[in-house]
Amino acid sequence: MIKENLAKVRSTLADGVRLVAVSKTKPVEMLQEAYDAGQRLFGENKALEMRDKHAVLPEDIEWHFIGHLQTNKIKYIAAYVRMIHSIDSLNLLEAVDKEARKHDRVIDCLLQFHIATEETKFGLNMDEARALLESPEYAAMEHVRIVGVMGMATNTTDRELVRREFRTLREYRDQLAEKYFKGHEEFREISMGMSHDYDIAMEEGSTMVRIGSTIFGARDYGVKVNDD
Ligand SMILES: *Cc1c(COP(=O)(O)O)cnc(C)c1O
Repeated sequence: MIKENLAKVRSTLADGVRLVAVSKTKPVEMLQEAYDAGQRLFGENKALEMRDKHAVLPEDIEWHFIGHLQTNKIKYIAAYVRMIHSIDSLNLLEAVDKEARKHDRVIDCLLQFHIATEETKFGLNMDEARALLESPEYAAMEHVRIVGVMGMATNTTDRELVRREFRTLREYRDQLAEKYFKGHEEFREISMGMSHDYDIAMEEGSTMVRIGSTIFGARDYGVKVNDD
């Protein structure tokens, strides 16, 4: 079914929108099936799980980290991760810079914003993002490159609320681009939209949608994975 699900999702993507296949909790056989159907971009939210999958799956997979990242776990992904969607503090960005330096790499990063009404979601607000971007610590970093923003909308059936939250994230991207990234065309990404709301996200300007259950089926959290 994965091949069919992927084809269905792909047929609904707006022009220029990239699909991050969110494979967290799913076995490598399922990722391989998606790979065989042409998928190369995968999203995981646990460092050890990503490390274990990276070790056995094809080299040309583009791995994106999309979950809350602890600084002591960066070492498991720094050698190969292409993008980290979930930068929510200067401290984390500094730690990523330090680990990327060890591998002589530059890791693309997104600033994660708190756009939902729920208390529990991680993310920066605009003041915190400005403070990060204006800090001397950030100015000194050479092994990270900030290429855009990421956010998760409220988990609700109120589609107008979701739309407003996505619109806010797009405005944040535009404001930051104008103020801090003049002449840096790479700062353009908006990672927003999941299985149940990516249609709205695309209408509001998403450049990357992160889709899991629609491709791989519902997740079973009955068994805790060996991480965090
Ligand atoms: C799990 C997850 C997704 C995908 O969610 P689905 O509803 O399965 O599409 C997207 N983004 C993040 C950050 C996630 O943790």
